[in-house]
Amino acid sequence: MLKLVWALLPLSLLVGCVAEQSETVMPAPKPVIARLTEPRVIGLGESVKGQPIVATVFNDGPRPVLILGGIHGDEQTSVDLTRNLIELLKHDVSLAGGKSVAIIQVANPDGYAMNRRTNAHGVDLNRNFPASNYRTVMQTKSPKGRYGTAAASEPETRALLRALENFNPRLIISIHSISDHRECNNYDGPAMDVAQKMSALNGYPVIDNIGYPTPGSMGTFCGIDRQIPMITLELPRGGSGVEAWSRNKDALIAGIKAR
Ligand SMILES: [Zn+2]
Repeated sequence: MLKLVWALLPLSLLVGCVAEQSETVMPAPKPVIARLTEPRVIGLGESVKGQPIVATVFNDGPRPVLILGGIHGDEQTSVDLTRNLIELLKHDVSLAGGKSVAIIQVANPDGYAMNRRTNAHGVDLNRNFPASNYRTVMQTKSPKGRYGTAAASEPETRALLRALENFNPRLIISIHSISDHRECNNYDGPAMDVAQKMSALNGYPVIDNIGYPTPGSMGTFCGIDRQIPMITLELPRGGSGVEAWSRNKDALIAGIKAR
């Protein structure tokens, strides 16, 4: 017995030595599966109240499709969609067809936590972009004005501008909700074909004009001023997140693959 122990000892030392050496010379490659399914999370900034604003990136690559929810904090089903989409792609990234995609689950985290449209300053972030038609609207209710004291006055808007600068997205899908059966695939810039593909799957009409002025909106800044294809997906207000997801899951995947 003693002989056996002595006989094994040098061998075990040798094995340890070889393992250590090979680790130094050639590190084991990460499994491919892990690289495909583990998204990269990128910090973009913070809300007025210090909540992080982050993008979850799948199939890391140049010019991802940028998808965002909750720029209006009271449109909570939009966040159900971005959350579900992140979970879906974590589970099976092959659904994106190898296309890069960056998802901002909640663009206005303070508004989302308070279930209100505006950020903590009372500013409508989708009117705070430095678009050609930006204007301030001072109201006594919001000390900073409903559209902000100036374009990009709000940290959340600046986080989204940072996303645009970092990602240079090939397509943007911003998810909202709207009342009175006006749900739609609203497009700005060269994105009619994408809106049509999404419409074929979610059944909402394609429109190029929401029908009321939207000064300082992301759609104007990105789609009209900069000609970045942009879809404003308007879900039916008051519907359930589960229903909105089942209706739009394939439309969002089609949007990702469209460009
Ligand atoms: Zn909205």
